[in-house]
Amino acid sequence: MKSKKNVGAYVRVSTSMQEENDSLKTQISKIESYCELHDYHLHKIYEDVGSGGDDERESFKELQRDIDNGKIDILLVYETSRISRKSNTMISFISNIIEKNVDFVSISQPDLNTTTSTGRLFFTINAGLAQYEREQISSRVKSSAYERAKKGHWMAGQLPIGYKRDEEKNIIIDEVGARQVKNFFTTFIGNQSLKKTADLFGKPVESMRWILTNPFYIGKYRFGVRKNNLHNKKKQRTGEYILVEGSQEAIINKEMFDKVQLYIKGNRALNKKNIKKSNFILGGLIKCSCMKKMYGNGNYVKKYDRLYRSYQCDNCKKKVDADLIEEQIFERLKEFEQLREINDISIDNVELVKSLEVYKNRKISILKEKDRLLTLLLKELIDESEFTKNREKIGKDLEVVTEEISNLEETIKKKEDGSDENFEILVEVSNNYKNYELIDLRELLRMIIKEIVIKDINNRKDFEYDIILEY
Ligand SMILES: [Zn+2]
Repeated sequence: MKSKKNVGAYVRVSTSMQEENDSLKTQISKIESYCELHDYHLHKIYEDVGSGGDDERESFKELQRDIDNGKIDILLVYETSRISRKSNTMISFISNIIEKNVDFVSISQPDLNTTTSTGRLFFTINAGLAQYEREQISSRVKSSAYERAKKGHWMAGQLPIGYKRDEEKNIIIDEVGARQVKNFFTTFIGNQSLKKTADLFGKPVESMRWILTNPFYIGKYRFGVRKNNLHNKKKQRTGEYILVEGSQEAIINKEMFDKVQLYIKGNRALNKKNIKKSNFILGGLIKCSCMKKMYGNGNYVKKYDRLYRSYQCDNCKKKVDADLIEEQIFERLKEFEQLREINDISIDNVELVKSLEVYKNRKISILKEKDRLLTLLLKELIDESEFTKNREKIGKDLEVVTEEISNLEETIKKKEDGSDENFEILVEVSNNYKNYELIDLRELLRMIIKEIVIKDINNRKDFEYDIILEY
C-alpha cells in the first residue's frame, strides 16, 4: 500500500483574544477536513501566537527544522492573506521549500497549490512576474532624471561641437563646427577606422568615438542609464542608453548615422571577439547537446555588412542562431497560455469539480445526520444535553463545508471566465519582447526557464531542443 503523504500545517494568530482563538479553531478544523478529504496524514499542526516577532515564532522554526529533516511532504496553510501572494518573502519561502521537495498548499486559495501541474506553472509564472515587476519599479522609466531629459532639457553644461546657444539660450547650429562634424562622419565612412579618422583630425580616439556615436547630431539626446547596484547601493552606469527626441536641428541624417554605428559596432565585435554579454538574454540558459553551456557571441561580417548573433558552445564550438531561438522561445511561452486553458478545463477544473462533488455529498450527509439527531431526541433515545453537544459539532461541520463549497464554486467560475491577468502579462511580454529592456527579459526568463536543452544541431538555423521550466 502506498504510504500517505505527511502534512505539516501552520497556523498563526496575532493575539490570544477570544475572537482570534475562534479563528484558530476554525482554521484547524478546516485543515483537518482538508487532510481527510485528500487522504493525507496530518503529521503535526504548528501553532504560533503573537504579532510575528522572531521570538514569537518558535513553532515556525520547528516547522522549518522538520522540513529540513524531510519529515514533511506538504506544507498546508489555511490562507496567506497576511503575506501577500506576490511578496518577496512569500515567493522565496515557497521556492525554498519546493527545492526541498515539499509542496505548498493554501486551502482558501486553490490556485496556490504546487501539488498540481497547473499550480506549479502558475507559481513559477507568478514568481517570474513578481521579479519582473520589481525590476520595473527600479527601472530607468521611473527615474526623474529621465523625465527631465524627456521634456527636452539638455542637462550637460557644454554643447557638442557643431552647436551653440543664441541670446535666448536656444540651441542653434554653429556652421563652422557643423561642417567639421560632417567631415568626421564622411571620412570615417571612407576609411572605416576610428584610429585613422582620429589621427587625421588630431583628436584622441575616444573623443572621436564619442562624436561619431552621439545621437545629438540626429536631433536626439542620449541619456545614460544608471541603475542601483544592489551590492554597494550606489548608482552605476550600465552602459545602456535611452534616446529621447531633442529640440535641436540635426546635422547628420539618420541613414548616415546608422551606417556609422554599424561600422563602429562591427569593429568592436571584431576587436573584442564578442559583443556585450547582456545582449544575449538566453546566455548560460542553453545547454549544448554535448552538455556544456552555450553563451552569446556576435560576429560582424564586413562582406555582408551584417552582425551575426549566435549562442555558441565553449566545448564543441557548435552554434545556434540567436535571433531565431529567442523568437522561438517567446512563441513557446505564449503556448503556456494554451496549456493553461487546456489544463483549467480538462485537468484542474476536473479536480476542483471532483472536490466540489465530495463537499456537496458531505453536506448532504451532515444534513441527514442533523435529521437523525432530531429523530433520536424525539424518540427520547438521547437526552437534551447530548443533543445540544452533537448539534454544535454538526453546526460547525456544516459551516466549514458550506464555506468550502462557495470557495470552490468561485474558483471554478473564475477559471471558466479565464480572467487571469498574469498570463495576459506573460503573453503581452512574449508578443512584444523586442520593446522590453534586455536586462528585464533576462531576469524574467531566468525565473521561468530552468534550462533549454539542445538535442541536435544540424546547422545554425536547424536545431531541436526541449525547454525545462523552473521547478
Ligand atoms: Zn557542445
